[in-house]
Amino acid sequence: MTVQEITEQLGELRERALRDVAEADDPAALREVEVAYLGKKGQLKSILDAIGGLPAEDRPRVGAAGNEIKTAVLEAMERRRRRLEGIALEVRLAAEREDVTLPGRPLHRGSLHPLIETNREIARVLGQFGFVTYETPEVETDELNFQALNIPEDHPARDLWDTLYVTPPEAAPRDPAGGPTYLLRTHTSPGQIHVMRTVQPPIRALLPGRCFRYEAVDASHAFEFFQMEGLMVDEGTTLADLRGVLDEFGHALFGADRPTRFRPGYYPFTEPSVAFDVRCIVCEGEGCATCKRTGWFTLLGGGMVHPVVLRNGGLDPERYQGFAFGMGTDRIAMVRHGISDIRLFLENDLRFLEQL
Ligand SMILES: [Zn+2]
Repeated sequence: MTVQEITEQLGELRERALRDVAEADDPAALREVEVAYLGKKGQLKSILDAIGGLPAEDRPRVGAAGNEIKTAVLEAMERRRRRLEGIALEVRLAAEREDVTLPGRPLHRGSLHPLIETNREIARVLGQFGFVTYETPEVETDELNFQALNIPEDHPARDLWDTLYVTPPEAAPRDPAGGPTYLLRTHTSPGQIHVMRTVQPPIRALLPGRCFRYEAVDASHAFEFFQMEGLMVDEGTTLADLRGVLDEFGHALFGADRPTRFRPGYYPFTEPSVAFDVRCIVCEGEGCATCKRTGWFTLLGGGMVHPVVLRNGGLDPERYQGFAFGMGTDRIAMVRHGISDIRLFLENDLRFLEQL
């Protein structure tokens, strides 16, 4: 080949190579172009192999032209590579962009357990009278659960509470030297003693919590249940104060027009004791299973704090009087939500809980 022929071929190769580089649309295509033109068996090499047949004075010029083409093609490839990377990035970003016009996915919202919801509603209503919630222990001593509440060991009222002992009674003699007998509290009332011993009157305390009794479980009895206890202690507190608070409470919870009534009751730790009823929410007084055909739903029991209990709480009954009341949160939640079986509260079956 002559110098002119080689130069022409180099010129054509340069054009073709640059066009192919420009048309390569991904890194793999770009590599193929590189191999085809600049590789060991590529087109540039095969043209330059002919340089050996040229006169010696022409070789450097043609060789330099070949090198210039190689540099130009490599530079074009580098530019193209960067451009392809830029395009790939743009494509990816476009694909990942949030589409703010898409409708949202529904969120699964939880809801409060009916017992918690009822607890909070009771605390909200009584909070308006200044009652403040206190947390007290679930494991109590026999002394606080019974004796301090005017229920001595041989008191017949003990039969009302079938007790779950932490310390077996026979293993822990009641002799003070033998140490206290521990049990699972059978009611929230020992909280009254805790509060009286730590808070100076005037006291307005709410004592919500879990209680335990050794009971056969059926639709209306659980061995584990929730109570809410209220305690007010001040100078000159009377039964009329209790009546006023409970009437307001019953009306706030079950409607302003709902008839209420007080009946005599009996508890060892109150004197006098009362039961507080509201007209049955289920049958409106007609008589049904919930109200045991009486037409009245017993909301709670209470009364004036017994002087012995005040004294055990460290307060002088000559100076301070108080009232206390206690209610079953489970029973109230059942009536509020129309639930007939107390066991549903403790089974944590979401199919049940989600209905409420
Ligand atoms: Zn009824």
